[in-house]
Amino acid sequence: MKAIIQDLDYRQISALAADMGQPAFRAKQLYEGITQGKDISQISTLPETFRQRLLNEFEDCALRIEKVFAGADGTKKFLFSLADGNVIEGVLMSYKYGNTQCVSTQVGCRMGCKFCASTLGGLVRNLTPGEILSQILKVNALCGGTREKRAVTNVVLMGSGEPFDNYDNVVAFLKNLTCAEGLNVSPRNISLSTCGLADRMYDFAKEGIPLNLTVSLHATADAERARTMPVANKWKISQILQACDNYFKVTGRRFIFEYSLIAGENCDERHAGELIKLLKGRPCHVNLIRLNEVKERSLKAADEKNAYRFLGMLQKGGLSATLRRQIGADIGGACGQLRASYLKMNGEDGAPGSPPG
Ligand code: SAH
Repeated sequence: MKAIIQDLDYRQISALAADMGQPAFRAKQLYEGITQGKDISQISTLPETFRQRLLNEFEDCALRIEKVFAGADGTKKFLFSLADGNVIEGVLMSYKYGNTQCVSTQVGCRMGCKFCASTLGGLVRNLTPGEILSQILKVNALCGGTREKRAVTNVVLMGSGEPFDNYDNVVAFLKNLTCAEGLNVSPRNISLSTCGLADRMYDFAKEGIPLNLTVSLHATADAERARTMPVANKWKISQILQACDNYFKVTGRRFIFEYSLIAGENCDERHAGELIKLLKGRPCHVNLIRLNEVKERSLKAADEKNAYRFLGMLQKGGLSATLRRQIGADIGGACGQLRASYLKMNGEDGAPGSPPG
């Protein structure tokens, strides 16, 4: 695999063009072409000789949209293929105020959460900054968006992978995504979801990217959390909450907790009481979602009645909370489902060391 030009930021592109003996306006044209989601060979504003020189060093494109699945509710699910043949997935959800794209940060994941399809085959590799960015560049272009009038208005890092397990690449991607010469997406329109790597949450608070920090909680006590999330053996809920408080202190941004409702596991009256005790008074919001059942996993979703009951208890207890509708359920909307079924179809599942399904 050659290098990926989308890994470079505007300054690095300028240095590259200068190194190749090109005037400054060529760097601008190159970066513009990249931002428009074009492959190097498609940037027709550049002279053929310059494009050829670039193609000696760089992949023509970081990834291709291999398949698009359209859901009945307007959700689109994408399967991307990378230059080395790996596949990843993403979703575009449409709302009244715009379109939110969910991107992957790793091929697979090594966090091992019991309810999640992304981690079934373990971690294959980290995505580079340009591979993460290209998911957005390609979908924006496909949906008729431009740099000025984006089809992708919001971005969430909630696809396959743990963003803070690929920290440097994710930060480089975010800097490129938010840069004025590029897509110029405001950090306010970006959410990053972590399973709670507390040390990285402190690091991230210092990066100067005040996005919406989201933490996957899914339990109210460490021992219970460890049943579905092995990461709980490393970081305690109390440590995670301290890291959240620090994030608010440094950035002024309130934080969000994801809480997937799993039948018989985390959503009875006791859990509601404990959650209220943990979070009351903190500048946060709780996003409830009924578990998206993954066929390789035995965990079941809480029924709708129970979900609303749990929501009511939290709200009565003074928490800001909402129950998200399950989107794209008909097209395998949950993390990693599409990639998992693609690998299965192609006989590539069951990587060595993968946890039992
Ligand atoms: N690794 C990150 C981000 C990826 S997952 C994290 O753990 O936060 C995005 C969210 O979807 C997380 O809250 C994750 O716990 C949740 N999730 C994964 N599989 C799910 C499923 N089958 N049903 C409901 N939520 C799920």
